[in-house]
Amino acid sequence: MMNTKLGRRRFITTLVGASLLMITGMKQALAVMIQKITLTEEEWQKKLTPEQFRILRKEGTEQSFTSPLNDEKRTGTFHCVGCDLLLFNSEQKYDSGTGWPSFFDTAIDGHVETKTDFKLIYPRKEYHCARCGGHQGHIFRDGPQPTGLRYCNNGTALYFKVKGTLERKKI
Ligand SMILES: [Zn+2]
Repeated sequence: MMNTKLGRRRFITTLVGASLLMITGMKQALAVMIQKITLTEEEWQKKLTPEQFRILRKEGTEQSFTSPLNDEKRTGTFHCVGCDLLLFNSEQKYDSGTGWPSFFDTAIDGHVETKTDFKLIYPRKEYHCARCGGHQGHIFRDGPQPTGLRYCNNGTALYFKVKGTLERKKI
């Protein structure tokens, strides 16, 4: 009797472990599946506004407190303005007081790629859209838990999709 119970418990533990592995595996698979978008500088200029081009393609930074997305508090998702890729969920947004839309985590692993830049005296961790390579912002280590990270994003590089918008449009 005892042995059966123990055996079952072990089996369940193994099952949970296997499921977690599968979820992790799926996340990685999603990241790998991202097809890169490569456009010429001229093509990007046609696709984007001059301000979007300056930020996404030239790693520019918008002036703080200028993006309407700072005050965006509705439920929905934030996407790369260059290629529509989902980058953040509204649940991950918080008010950092910096004047730039701030998030403590990304929506899906692998949708954001990072590199270290030395544009200022100290090195900063730059991040960009994994699909089109468009610059989004910088990551700082002064964010809230559970990650302790602050994804400081240019509002110009994002667009916001209110949850359920597409469904409403179809009616
Ligand atoms: Zn993109």
